[in-house]
Amino acid sequence: MDRSLPESTKEKLEAWLRYCDDLHIAEFFLDRSGMTKRPIRSAQTQPALQTPVRPAASMTAPFAKAPHTLRLAAAPILPVVQMPGLFEAADRIEGDTLERIREDLGECTRCRLHKQRNQIVFGTGNPRAELVFVGEGPGRDEDLQGLPFVGRAGQLLTQMIEAMGLARGDVYICNVVKCRPPENRTPEKDEVATCSPFLLRQLAVIAPKAVVCLGSVAAQSLLATNQGISHFRGQWFDFRGSKLLATYHPAYLLRNPSAKSEVWKDLQRVMAFLGLKGKKSLR
Ligand code: URA
Repeated sequence: MDRSLPESTKEKLEAWLRYCDDLHIAEFFLDRSGMTKRPIRSAQTQPALQTPVRPAASMTAPFAKAPHTLRLAAAPILPVVQMPGLFEAADRIEGDTLERIREDLGECTRCRLHKQRNQIVFGTGNPRAELVFVGEGPGRDEDLQGLPFVGRAGQLLTQMIEAMGLARGDVYICNVVKCRPPENRTPEKDEVATCSPFLLRQLAVIAPKAVVCLGSVAAQSLLATNQGISHFRGQWFDFRGSKLLATYHPAYLLRNPSAKSEVWKDLQRVMAFLGLKGKKSLR
């Protein structure tokens, strides 16, 4: 690292590289044209590459405003590696396990949500589940217990799962962000972007047949869209080898019980796909 860099920049750069390490992204190169310094990290075995790595602009990176270029005082560092996008690279790790992902997450301080959380809420359930439910982020009860969907919305989710003829232990339940947003506010884009790679790794390890997104934050984050959930609720999408369907969040159903019939139709589609008989309805 350039010794003339200000301490604060060095610290940010180190934090950024540690973050990439956690995601098992290790290839960074200096721009070869007029290169005077050695690469920060190199992968000599990588083939010639054309497309720059583009770190997600919204990530909490020290250089988030210039996603193509990591600027150092003397020699500009241009990532010139062609490899899968950050998320794709991050979620395909050979031999990955839920335990390893949890370990990599550690006592995470990567985004501001860590400041007010009591506990990280990683996820729970069957690591070989055919069905994964993805919510938005922990609420108060979840933050206190360290488990997802254990409050009022969680009780309704349990009813939904049981109406499908399953038990909570049959499925896997997790959230987009692993720390409770203050006052249960919606997670910010950069918080979602920072936490999403861990969710993608969880989904890649479990490799469920179906993923059900509960609410728009989960759906928009996994489908990488800004469209409102009502545009695509109840439709199947291909998602990294699984099928993905979005439905309303149980918290929304607590406020709008009449929407339960719509959700029940969505869950019936999931049941048909998984060959589940289920119960008569969701009350
Ligand atoms: N809402 C969520 O999205 N997730 C939880 O874990 C609890 C409530």
